[in-house]
Amino acid sequence: MTEPMFPRLALIGIGLIGSSIAHAARRAGAAGHIAVHSRTAATLKRAHELHIGDSYHADPADAARDADAVILCIPVGASGAAAKAIAPALKPGAIVSDVGSVKASVVAQVAPHLAQEVHFVPAHPVAGTEYSGPDAGFAELFDNRWTILTPPPGTNPEAVERMHDFWKRLGANVDVMTPEHHDLVLAITSHVPHLIAYNIVGTAAHLESVTQSEVMKFSAGGFRDFTRIASSDPTMWRDVFLNNREAVLEMLGRFTEDLTALQRNIRYGQGEELFDLFTRTRAIRRGIIEAGQETAAADFGRPHGKADGE
Ligand code: NAP
Repeated sequence: MTEPMFPRLALIGIGLIGSSIAHAARRAGAAGHIAVHSRTAATLKRAHELHIGDSYHADPADAARDADAVILCIPVGASGAAAKAIAPALKPGAIVSDVGSVKASVVAQVAPHLAQEVHFVPAHPVAGTEYSGPDAGFAELFDNRWTILTPPPGTNPEAVERMHDFWKRLGANVDVMTPEHHDLVLAITSHVPHLIAYNIVGTAAHLESVTQSEVMKFSAGGFRDFTRIASSDPTMWRDVFLNNREAVLEMLGRFTEDLTALQRNIRYGQGEELFDLFTRTRAIRRGIIEAGQETAAADFGRPHGKADGE
């Protein structure tokens, strides 16, 4: 049995990601005592019933007290208030991290509340499912997925190294980049695709000439894959778009221009242009499979528990 990296780990938020960290940390023996906080009594009670942690706290400061590492596993927009609440309870040398899908905004919200002797190492595990809450978590979620660390300039290198090792022990591959670069990369790989899914499912819901039952019946034509993504947590995704505004708008601008070009190709019967693009996009899919981030199997209607990058 290897030594736990963090004798006391506090998880502030115990939904899909928080509970998956708890399960994966236990599997790896990476944490000793796991202290759990959730905003509502109902979620905290459910986490207790599922034996996700070792202690359960209604006050986030009680969970964070004496912790060697505290990970915020809550919607991005709630990060500042959570940091403020735990800050007075943090011991010197403690590491504070998070799992938010947006990084520059989290750094701006959290850093001002933390004392000099506390180390802040923001993180984003690029792994998720469309399910939420403590029941949704599972130990394998991060296996062979990427976790991105975005330490602000001047962060203690040892603290970065420890979070790097922690995520490796949870099964993840780890990369390090600036918060701003992270937000630009994720805007195109995750945020805009989610917006497209939300939009297309919304458009289908508004159609009058095609009935809803036809939309359901013929969904295997492609629509079904979008509905899975568009069923992702509304609070989380609202916060992603509000907190990664600039990068999403930048990528959306490019997307709209390219869509207009496709519209023209269709209008003027430019089949060669369409064929060229569709050939290039096929190669990207092959690259993702070769990178081990997807299987070649037809994957619509993924079973619960199949991890996805979000
Ligand atoms: P989740 O399953 O919905 O769980 C959310 C947790 O945050 C619950 O403990 C919830 O507490 C708490 N919470 C909700 N609103 C809050 C608020 N205003 N203030 C304080 N706590 C609040 O969410 P999740 O999927 O684990 O996502 C958590 C974080 O992980 C988000 O920042 C998200 O960007 C990031 N992330 C998500 C995915 C994904 O695919 N889901 C992937 C990578 C990263 P109660 O239930 O008690 O209200």
